[in-house]
Amino acid sequence: MSTQFLINNLKATIEGKEILKGINLEIKGGEIHAIMGPNGTGKSTLASALMGHPKYEVTDGEVFINGEDLLEMEVDERARAGLFLAMQYPSEIAGVTNSDFLRSAINARREEGNEISLIKFIRQMESKMKELDMNPEFAHRYLNEGFSGGEKKRNEILQMLLLDPKLVILDEIDSGLDIDALKIVAAGVNSMRSEDRGFLIITHYQRLLNYITPDFVHVMMQGRIVKSGGPELAERLENEGYDWVKEELGITDETVGQA
Ligand code: ADP
Ligand code: MG
Repeated sequence: MSTQFLINNLKATIEGKEILKGINLEIKGGEIHAIMGPNGTGKSTLASALMGHPKYEVTDGEVFINGEDLLEMEVDERARAGLFLAMQYPSEIAGVTNSDFLRSAINARREEGNEISLIKFIRQMESKMKELDMNPEFAHRYLNEGFSGGEKKRNEILQMLLLDPKLVILDEIDSGLDIDALKIVAAGVNSMRSEDRGFLIITHYQRLLNYITPDFVHVMMQGRIVKSGGPELAERLENEGYDWVKEELGITDETVGQA
């Protein structure tokens, strides 16, 4: 079955403040959707709410992944259903090596008794690390501890490559990346493009979209998707900023990003 991801009128609050005010989005297998928007408009909140972060309370709406009710699922069930989030600010976990973490994450998605063999895992990890031009020593370092911003982002992409997700959410994967790292990350994403996988790419800048061509671009402001279009929309935002969108919609600077 081709992947289908459906968000209907999603509303979410953090500490009682409404951030998401009714998000509607449909992502089909094979599609790449980009969400762009000024800082503080709720892009990361959307990513966290979808993944089931406990700080964000969903107050209304529905989300379905391949017909299954995502909001009814625990975080680990969401991962098993194929949801993957590359975080804007990945956590550092001292005491857990990167390779132990990756193997646990892979096995958590497999049936008991069907765990990946150590040899097969190492072979896969090493080949993907090579693809991402990562130093092999990163396998044995503690998860993200002391990693630079760019190394953390590459490590998120390594997880994506190994976990074979159905719906990939990348939250500002481009921040902190130099141009070479950006190209490597984009190549990793492009290599994962397939009919049974959808992507939601959250980014503040158009730069990443020079290397990953989205099918749809959405502009988010004040907790809503206020405009949708094709890749040309991202180019216009890069050239002209967000002011023309605000003008079109009658949004004043004072209210942008405020709930
Ligand atoms: P974006 O990713 O678009 O920059 P965010 O989703 O991170 O925006 O934030 C949206 C709004 O929610 C902002 O006003 C931000 O201050 C607020 N917010 C986000 N996370 C928290 C939090 N943990 N506690 C309180 N407010 C938060
Ligand atoms: Mg953000």
